[in-house]
Amino acid sequence: MNANFDLLVSGCNTRCAHCYVNGGPGGLMRTEDALFCIDWLDELASLLPFEASFTLDNEPMNHPDIALIVKKAASVGHIEYFHHGMTSGIALMRRPDREEVLRTYLECGFREFGITVHGNAAHHDGIVRREGAYRLACEAAALAKNVGAEVSVSLMFNRFFAEDADDIDGLTERLAPSYVWFAIPNYTPHVNMPGYEGYRGTEADLEALSPMLEKWGVNAEALLKEARTVARLREELIAVLDPAELFARPQEELYLSIRQNGDLYVGNTGAETELLGNIRALDPAAAAGRIARLPGNRDFGAFYEADRIPGRETLVSAAERLPGELLYSDLPSALYRVLAELGIPTRIIKP
Ligand code: SF4
Repeated sequence: MNANFDLLVSGCNTRCAHCYVNGGPGGLMRTEDALFCIDWLDELASLLPFEASFTLDNEPMNHPDIALIVKKAASVGHIEYFHHGMTSGIALMRRPDREEVLRTYLECGFREFGITVHGNAAHHDGIVRREGAYRLACEAAALAKNVGAEVSVSLMFNRFFAEDADDIDGLTERLAPSYVWFAIPNYTPHVNMPGYEGYRGTEADLEALSPMLEKWGVNAEALLKEARTVARLREELIAVLDPAELFARPQEELYLSIRQNGDLYVGNTGAETELLGNIRALDPAAAAGRIARLPGNRDFGAFYEADRIPGRETLVSAAERLPGELLYSDLPSALYRVLAELGIPTRIIKP
């Protein structure tokens, strides 16, 4: 088992249609609370019987004191700071101290930054619901590269990708990132997700991109092995899959989240299942004892109680009512889509 704490220091500048982590404009964590929280997590991690890490989210570059917070994150001894480096670039580009902030990250050893691209400028701005977002993401990536960071581009596949392929390719040529990631969006039972389904691409859309995928260094075979359409899931449900067994599988990763006010929840942001208390009032030793006894919550049981999952026939019949060709990142995503169709209640609480 290992645990990750998602520390929400500041909200986002976009309202992405596919966001399942409660992103969007939000408040700031007070600087003193953020610093206290990192110390508190470090002490907690020293008492846990497994390894722990934490991340800074949703868009840490919005925090006026992010340089101070990043330095603190780099100084801890028991918990690891997991720097994912993904940014919309908007917060960075509006900061007068943007180069200094990037240099602080680099000096602390956090050298990687990434932007996510949803197609050409118009499609990207539409999906993240912010005009000018594409331009600012590209400017931020170029700036990070100039300052000496390693920059990656994450291409988030959707139904526009085949028509936007030349524009996307132009961006990757101009930016020459260290790495191009390619992701098929997942599906979780988050309230936002049904609104993204109109953008979701199909297997045929992906096949139409084949020459570009090769150029971008994407392993399409591995991608398709992992990905699922609801039609393929239906066949697997009929032939081999035992839904009860899937939901009974133990998970080796435990996700927790800490909101701007210091409330500590079990569950990743957007999939909180229990409030443990506020870290200002929680004793690290008592919290560590409680957390050590929690089961993992990466997939399946993170969202649904095992005894709420219907039998195979009900799932197959729901799958038949859905568009079979839409492509999901993996088997759990396709299964959650079917469960959403059935209106199965989730474990997620409203924080
Ligand atoms: S997907 Fe990321 S950038 Fe977009 S709203 Fe959600 S947390 Fe913010």
